Amino acid sequence: MLDQAILSGLKEVDNEVFDLVVSEETRQQRQIRLIPSENYASCAVRAALATSFTNKYGEGYPGRRYYQGQVNTDKIENLAIERAKQLFGYPFANVQALSGAPANLAVYTAFLKPFAGKIMAMRLDHGGHLTHGSPVSVTGAWFEISHYGCQEDDYLDMEKIRAQALEFRPDVLVCGYTAYPRTIDFKAFGEIAREVGAISLADISHIAGLIAGGSHPSPFPHMDVVTFTTHKTLRGPRAAIILSKDPEHADKIDKAVFPGLQGGPHFNTISAIAVALKEALSPAFKSYTDQVVKNAISVADELKGRGYHIISGGTDNHLVLVDVRKSCNLPGKRVAEALEDVGIVCNFNTVPNASDRQKPLFPDGIRLGTPSITTRGFKENDCRKVAELMDRTMKNIKAGKLEKGESPFIDEAIKDQIAAEVAELATSFPTFSWQE
Ligand SMILES: *Cc1c(COP(=O)(O)O)cnc(C)c1O
Repeated sequence: MLDQAILSGLKEVDNEVFDLVVSEETRQQRQIRLIPSENYASCAVRAALATSFTNKYGEGYPGRRYYQGQVNTDKIENLAIERAKQLFGYPFANVQALSGAPANLAVYTAFLKPFAGKIMAMRLDHGGHLTHGSPVSVTGAWFEISHYGCQEDDYLDMEKIRAQALEFRPDVLVCGYTAYPRTIDFKAFGEIAREVGAISLADISHIAGLIAGGSHPSPFPHMDVVTFTTHKTLRGPRAAIILSKDPEHADKIDKAVFPGLQGGPHFNTISAIAVALKEALSPAFKSYTDQVVKNAISVADELKGRGYHIISGGTDNHLVLVDVRKSCNLPGKRVAEALEDVGIVCNFNTVPNASDRQKPLFPDGIRLGTPSITTRGFKENDCRKVAELMDRTMKNIKAGKLEKGESPFIDEAIKDQIAAEVAELATSFPTFSWQE
């Protein structure tokens, strides 16, 4: 729902921006959004983003700022911190990191010497993040990296990871992924880190909401430090939180965020984090996260039943990876683009154990997630319908090389029919709905 009060002011001043906002709102309503890192934040979260807290500077932390006028900002930041501690069980929380990538960088700069520290993390093409030491990220350029990956069954093997850690001796051992459909064994990662004397870091950006709702095991008390974005399954504003257990770690992290890497905190965002955390503490949030997982399992089951190759054979969380090269000899990018043409938005993604044709910009897979459609109120049957629409779309995609500008579809009438059904299904749901 458009927030009329906020938007009428915008329309008066800037029609161009207003039109784009309306167009994006309409897109988010008419399409079925399956990007697992996306969601629909509530109107309350979006309202908090638009308040006069955006006008305030406040470098420092509550009670120790470099500017006057902090009566309300100290309270709002403390509220966000207290709720984060309550929700995740960690005794320390930093809510100032501007997003997930800066949060991870803050943790590395807190604990590692530049150009000397050692990080062990998951490789990018098996579901790690760029900030887990990819060569194109400064984290890969500034630190010595050892990457682990999935086994032939697409699962992580904790014994192999332990052996690699004993050999490499990382300073920071990272778990938490962007494209791993299975449960993460935080206890085992924490034990390995302790055994090799490393800081254990769980980057739970994707699954923070599931953990908050109790739909995935918690990293507490196993992992020393936890980072996460607040805008994925947690359904808050675009921002991040860093949790820790040890007061010395917390102090180093605070100093790394400010003044190490950032200037003034974004108090409008921090107030929206507080709202999202309050929502996540409610019983309705737990129903939402349980339904996210049930929905992902339904999508995986239905596609598997229709003959698609699902990475690891299924899912325990909010996401499903499909190897479309093995399933229908199509590249991930063509499938993702064709799906967008019918109104189903996912992303092409590398998959483990892929063909030798896979490259980062030409991967064998697509990545699907159910957080957004679950927020809208989709249940298992609706998700099976989405999988059926995807199957019909994929059966209608040409294999082999396409001429420039050539349609990827075998039959345009079938494509139009599917697109109409997608729009009808999508618009039959609101964009934000609390689960009963
Ligand atoms: C999304 C994500 C990040 C980065 O978050 P941004 O807000 O895009 O900077 C980091 N790590 C993981 C595992 C993520 O999924």
